[in-house]
Amino acid sequence: RKNLIHITTGSSALDELLGGGIETSSITEVFGEFRSGKTQLAHTLCVTAQLPKSVNGAEGRVAYIDTENCFRPERIVEIAERFELDPEEVLDNILVARAYTSEHQRQILQIELLVHIAAKMVEETFGLLIVDSATALFRVDYSGRGELSERQQKLNRFMSQLLKLSEQFNLAVFITNQVMSTPDGSAGMFVVDPKKPVGGHVIAHASTTRIMLRKGRGEQRVAKIYDSPMLAENEATFEVSSGGVID
Ligand code: ADP
Repeated sequence: RKNLIHITTGSSALDELLGGGIETSSITEVFGEFRSGKTQLAHTLCVTAQLPKSVNGAEGRVAYIDTENCFRPERIVEIAERFELDPEEVLDNILVARAYTSEHQRQILQIELLVHIAAKMVEETFGLLIVDSATALFRVDYSGRGELSERQQKLNRFMSQLLKLSEQFNLAVFITNQVMSTPDGSAGMFVVDPKKPVGGHVIAHASTTRIMLRKGRGEQRVAKIYDSPMLAENEATFEVSSGGVID
């Protein structure tokens, strides 16, 4: 396949787990509980994707679809400083697309945003597209009926578009995903299953690499390869620091 690049995550242990980093021309999904580090990893990649290829970057711009107002420019500044890049330049190279209006509108908007982003990608070199979060707008219930719902079809269409873009522009697509939570019987209380990503077979089918994240001690995070035909189900431990993801 053409010029595949692996973009460094900032942690050599995590890079090794992934066969060198986040791969272009494919979709990498990260899922885990709230605060497991998904958004911090996404922010780190926003910076590392801009590094020269000689140091495991993609020398490209970044598009970030932000569905829940999680993008933090001030985090990008800190991470850019760690990698000795000019923070202003790094920020200028990140195209942030926001998709938070009403739920129905957002589902449509999110697909429209991809068309808009694709037009930019024809003009300039992009190395990475992030969708944080890919499923929040398409939350599906698992009552069986939900699998066939219009939402699931929309999610499917969205994921197909992502895959197409990744191949067309030799882009690394990095998506974040929530884990399942089910009512535990008491009013308003939910139990989270940290090992079950949402999105069902649609997400499972579209994601080439799936990373399950969990919290370890303190700032430690543990990443595990989930359900991959190509990578061993190993684990890697990394940390989240002010400079982003580190070993
Ligand atoms: P998720 O997206 O999975 O909900 P985040 O990526 O937002 O989680 O991770 C949040 C965690 O990242 C925090 O709990 C904290 O441990 C760590 N973190 C966030 N910002 C910083 C920082 N500036 N310095 C160190 N750790 C940070």
